[in-house]
Amino acid sequence: MRFVVSGAAGFIGSHLCDRLIGEGHEVVALDNFLTGSRRNIAHLLGHARFCFREQDVTQPFSVDGAVDGVLHLASPASPKDYLEHPIETLDAGSLGTRNLLELARRHGARFLLASTSECYGDPLEHPQSETYWGHVNPVGPRSCYDESKRFAEALTMAYHRVFGLRTTIARIFNTYGPRMQLDDGRVVPAFIEQALRGGPLVVYGDGSQTRSFCYISDMVEGLYRLLFSDERYPVNLGNPRELTILEFARYVCQVAGIPERIEYAPLPEDDPKRRQPDIAKARRVLGWEPVVSLEEGLRRTLEHFRAQRADADER
Ligand code: NAD
Ligand code: UDP
Repeated sequence: MRFVVSGAAGFIGSHLCDRLIGEGHEVVALDNFLTGSRRNIAHLLGHARFCFREQDVTQPFSVDGAVDGVLHLASPASPKDYLEHPIETLDAGSLGTRNLLELARRHGARFLLASTSECYGDPLEHPQSETYWGHVNPVGPRSCYDESKRFAEALTMAYHRVFGLRTTIARIFNTYGPRMQLDDGRVVPAFIEQALRGGPLVVYGDGSQTRSFCYISDMVEGLYRLLFSDERYPVNLGNPRELTILEFARYVCQVAGIPERIEYAPLPEDDPKRRQPDIAKARRVLGWEPVVSLEEGLRRTLEHFRAQRADADER
């Protein structure tokens, strides 16, 4: 099959391209490098079934030839990135989603939206299941991301209802692994970068807020299954193991083999207090659940970044 992937030079997008190519599909990869990196797809350039196009998906574009599926992942995803690019983030969720839905409609292709647990905002229901409507500050600093994704979900459902498009919506919870940008500000690369320098790790607030971290290979498996499923309503994808950020910082020190050194910095505005996916639906409709433990995932991620640093030092 032939797939168009937006956000292909990003962290999740590039891993998803690897999977699609590995399964024998053809990929037309789109990215404007707003937050992604050429390095993430360097190994795919030149592959006979992989074609990269530098394209801002908020601008009109078309794709020649058959298209069987459209996967829309293009959007800043790290709080640091979307706070720096709020308008681009809103455009990626609105104009970008519209352009990619139109592309799917014109080609009679299936469509997958990479949505987010941020649709639940600072949740009042715990753990979060897909039936929860969320608790989002519509005018706070994170609203450019949260509302953009909520709008993208609404637009996706409208295309399904009006045109009968085969749409799927993944509500992705915190995912980590190789190819994240070490300086993208998200907690996993931030802690790893700090740990590789020997610490200290900088915890925002008192560290009592929680997150649940999913390793990239598990996420790609979930997204791949969802792409071919008949489920039209959102599906949570994430690892239900919940930790406080302070516990997580200690854990990173342990896995990195460094003494525990933790410093504290102010908690960003509207930082969600708790986040844990209820994945009963993913288990039921996709037969999916994460299999990589936090220890194993962190070990692999640390190894990747250690090697990357050693490489950079050599040059
Ligand atoms: P990322 O920043 O690594 O990747 C996003 C990619 O989209 C980048 O390569 C960026 O250059 C590209 N992009 C942004 N705007 C674009 C535009 N207008 N046109 C073309 N390309 C554009 O982030 P990620 O972690 O890989 O996230 C991928 C998707 O998954 C995003 O939609 C994000 O909202 C969603 N998601 C990720 C997580 C996570 O924990 N990683 C959690 C929830 C949702
Ligand atoms: N965080 C932290 N130190 C950092 C980066 C983030 O303590 O260097 C905290 C942040 O306040 C949040 C959690 O870690 O509570 C996860 O943050 P991230 O930016 O990874 O993503 P979020 O889940 O907030 O979208």
